[in-house]
Amino acid sequence: MTQTLLSRALVRLDEAASLLNVDPDVLEKLKYPRETSKMRLMIRMDDGSRKSFLSWRCRYDDTRGPTKGGIRFHPQASEDETEALAFWMTFKCAVMNLPYGGGKGAVQVNPRELSKAELERLSRAYMQAFSRIIGPDRDIPAPDVYTNAMIMGWMADEYNQTVDEVTPAVITGKPIALGGSLGREDATARGGYYLVRHLTGELGLPARMRVAIQGFGNAGQHIARLLAADGHVIVAVSDTSGAIASADGLDVEQLLAAKKKGQSVTTLAGGSVQRIDDVIAQDCDLLVPAALEDMIHDGNADSIKAKVVLELANGPVTSGADEILERKGIVVLPDILANAGGVTVSYFEWVQNRQGFYWPVEEIHERLRVIMEREGAAVWQVSRDKSTSCRTAAYVHALSRLAEAIEAHGTQP
Ligand code: GLU
Repeated sequence: MTQTLLSRALVRLDEAASLLNVDPDVLEKLKYPRETSKMRLMIRMDDGSRKSFLSWRCRYDDTRGPTKGGIRFHPQASEDETEALAFWMTFKCAVMNLPYGGGKGAVQVNPRELSKAELERLSRAYMQAFSRIIGPDRDIPAPDVYTNAMIMGWMADEYNQTVDEVTPAVITGKPIALGGSLGREDATARGGYYLVRHLTGELGLPARMRVAIQGFGNAGQHIARLLAADGHVIVAVSDTSGAIASADGLDVEQLLAAKKKGQSVTTLAGGSVQRIDDVIAQDCDLLVPAALEDMIHDGNADSIKAKVVLELANGPVTSGADEILERKGIVVLPDILANAGGVTVSYFEWVQNRQGFYWPVEEIHERLRVIMEREGAAVWQVSRDKSTSCRTAAYVHALSRLAEAIEAHGTQP
């Protein structure tokens, strides 16, 4: 039987536990999701027919606070993937010291095949189905792959109608008009950008980096923009249609404009069109996987030439590929740290919603920078002290916080 994504994710927990003296009770608690609900959502399509979609919400662990994590709309979404992503959220929130546990949701759907009205009905149906377990002090969703602020807005509205109360803190990544936070849109990329900038010396990266980006959605587009603005050179990018590369650097403004028009990055003039996987093998300093899980695996990891991999996607590098990269001396800045800027600004949004007082964007950026640099430097230090990879170090850093919280809760299961 092929291993589940969750069981493969749990290998990382075992590695971290072997470096920390944690009570076996702690591991027993973290090995299984606390609760996973599965619902079949029924919606009316525009042509009058009914269609059903499978959906899940997993609350993996709530020891450190309400569960937190995005909702993904994807044709290959599954229960196993949702649980693995919720496990990663548990550790991500602990790495960043956010007062949250980890959760995740998903709908098995190709949102590109739905009209806007159908998408709204599906988003509302999701919130209705899971409103029993969702709540500002219980479980707080957010955007993820193929979901966005508009969808969060519909879901917030549906929740408000259900409980008959305006409850903006129930979901993050909302439109600004509904209590969303400034700076949430580019937060995932911006967090990764602050992290790399802070550790440039330790990582041995040049002042002018050549960067390859796999995946050109929210995270990929914003990291391209932020790095290009600092004078770094974007040498290759890919999306689901293909890849484009130029050793002299791609025109990021044009790439962003193509995406805005709904076109593929491969339509850009001034670069050579390549196969999607070619981005990984690109001659560059920094490789940024910003698509889905398992994109860097045993079969392609050996072709990587970058010095550093910045995981803006969740779970993009398999554990087999991790070993290959370690052998090659390539540093991986792991997802639970590298892409944690998104959930960190989600936390700021939740705080602002609860206090009813909103911060200017400069304050959001500054608070994010401080946390990214502090936790990034701490993870780097653990990796030096324990002579281990940054991935294992991030798990060690998170696990020590989780263990402390689990022990502080006392002996009742
Ligand atoms: N979906 C994002 C992640 O995987 C953000 C989650 C959130 O903001 O709660 O980290």
